[in-house]
Amino acid sequence: MTAPGAAPAGLAPRFAGRLLERDLRRGLVAHGYAFYGEPGLGQEEAAAAWAAALLCGAGGCGACRDCSMAAERAHPDLLWVTPDGASLRLAQAAEACAFVARRPFQAGRRVVVIEGAERLTEEAGNRLLKELEEPPAGAVFVLLASRPEAVPATIRSRLRPVVFRPWPAEAVREALRAEGVEERAARWAAALSGGNPGRARTYARDPEWRAAAEGVLELLPRVAAAGPAEAAQWAARLRDWQARGFEVLEWMDLALRDALAARTGGRPRWCDEAAAAALAAALPPSAHETARRALWEARAALQANVNPLLTFEVLLIRLARAGRVGA
Ligand SMILES: [Zn+2]
Repeated sequence: MTAPGAAPAGLAPRFAGRLLERDLRRGLVAHGYAFYGEPGLGQEEAAAAWAAALLCGAGGCGACRDCSMAAERAHPDLLWVTPDGASLRLAQAAEACAFVARRPFQAGRRVVVIEGAERLTEEAGNRLLKELEEPPAGAVFVLLASRPEAVPATIRSRLRPVVFRPWPAEAVREALRAEGVEERAARWAAALSGGNPGRARTYARDPEWRAAAEGVLELLPRVAAAGPAEAAQWAARLRDWQARGFEVLEWMDLALRDALAARTGGRPRWCDEAAAAALAAALPPSAHETARRALWEARAALQANVNPLLTFEVLLIRLARAGRVGA
């Protein structure tokens, strides 16, 4: 059993959990919540834990039948809606509204979780809005979306916002360690994921991820000395890693910042000290800003759908030049 006032089991996604816990403790549960955040920050787990907290007679003890059924998304008073293909359709919204209108089976409430709320069609949004304007007693809607602007303002204004932010790297590392990931991989995945535990988990499980991360660390100190043929090979590798979902530009940026830390006596966030020092030696302080600008422009080019291979080739040429100019 959870002690009174403690976070319901699984609500740990720390920062958001506190707000929900307070609503529950004060008996001020809203009819609608919006969980905002980029995918991977634990919104689905938090929504399941929040549903359990609302459906369990003890506020989410984590041990009862209500809790375990809610955690498996199989509670009769919980409806979990995911987009049907590209959108959330009117029929799905209507089903959700009909669901909350019925009397609870075994809990005091009925909970609807809607994933991908940015994909509500206009009709579905209007149907849902009607329900949110006059919700049946005991109905709780939880909408999951990447960011507030992605949800129609009329709906958004009726939802209590809960924002999921990236976790501190240390918290991600601990979570991975608890899942059995080996120490160095956990530390690397935590650093390279930008504080996103879902992404870190994907990295840690992908056999190619370590090779890609090591590749980036190997490439950067050598880039200034690489001839055209080697640079072309590296550009192709970076393109492939990027296509696989590895955020190589962010990793390079992190490595550059670690090099700066090595130079100023700070603590590297990703690299071990030797790698950071090697990079610092290869890319002197005067080149640092140029290199980071080149990364920033490469990111913008990829977002604008410039050919990735070309983007990485240009980036490597600019990094090489920055290294040579600084030397
Ligand atoms: Zn329980």
